[in-house]
Amino acid sequence: MASGQPRALITGITGQDGSYLAELLLGQGWEVHGLVRRSSSDALGRIRHLLPSIQLHSGDLTDLSSLLSLIGRLRPEQLYNLGAQSSVPQSFAQPLATLQITGLGAANVLEAVRLMSPETRVYQAGSSEMFGNALESPQRETTPFSPASPYAVAKVQAQLMARHYRERGLFVVAGILFNHESPRRGEEFVTRKIARAVARIHRGEQAVIELGNLEARRDWGWAPDYVEAMVAMMAGPTPKDYVVATGIDHSVREFAEQALALIGRSFHDCVRVDPRLIRPADIAALVGDAGLARRELGWRPTVDFAGLVERMVRAELDLCAA
Ligand code: GDP
Repeated sequence: MASGQPRALITGITGQDGSYLAELLLGQGWEVHGLVRRSSSDALGRIRHLLPSIQLHSGDLTDLSSLLSLIGRLRPEQLYNLGAQSSVPQSFAQPLATLQITGLGAANVLEAVRLMSPETRVYQAGSSEMFGNALESPQRETTPFSPASPYAVAKVQAQLMARHYRERGLFVVAGILFNHESPRRGEEFVTRKIARAVARIHRGEQAVIELGNLEARRDWGWAPDYVEAMVAMMAGPTPKDYVVATGIDHSVREFAEQALALIGRSFHDCVRVDPRLIRPADIAALVGDAGLARRELGWRPTVDFAGLVERMVRAELDLCAA
């Protein structure tokens, strides 16, 4: 396996961020490896075009022994821990599995690095969900966590373990990424759900979009920008936490309005609220201050809200046309 190229291992490589990150690292000359659960082999869609160039290994974040053996064998320069049960609604239904995968899974990765490859730089995928209904707005690296779902509790656990291992001398960065979207976003997330539904409405296959909390506000950015921030953090001199966000929030209602306007349809005619989609606990608003990432990493978002909505809807319309 001695190729002379720097080597990166990505957990969660089949997800939205994993697929963009793999593309970015391959383009920079990295040897890219991915950890894949056997059960997600049917979910290789986002990385199928990369398969000749990346090496996949089957394993599981909840299985420390598979991590010990893989990390010990690869001894990668960089490890990006993006693997998680990442759906908030799913976490209300399966809180314990979420804690195991998203929380304990991160601790397993860190422990495996400490034991088998302590020189490896680790990226831990933190989330703005950790802030919950924060008292401070915008949220920054110093804002206290106030998790409002089992997913967020698990991410806080992972974040605190990342800080702990950093204090013990490992190079561990933790990106606190606000919502970031793209045509590769999972269909269970609201932006992709709306974009898909708008394309179906345009084709006459669906009459209305059923949504939950329309007034929830999120700071939505463009996912490929966010993986650039991950790579910049890992290249920095000092491991720390960084917020990655656009600094501007919009409501679910606004997202749906703008998406429908692109096909000349109105929100009033096409959106219904389904009370079953309203969560047991929700976060009213999240908006991040990425000032530290801007100053220290030179990172800036390149796509604004209108551009994001348009890219997502156009991609669904193009899929239909294909
Ligand atoms: P999250 O911020 O990681 O939970 O990302 P989501 O895209 O799943 O949800 C963003 C916001 O949209 C949350 O406040 C949801 O309550 C709200 N929302 C409203 N309707 C829907 C829906 O039909 N599906 C999802 N996933 N979220 C919805």
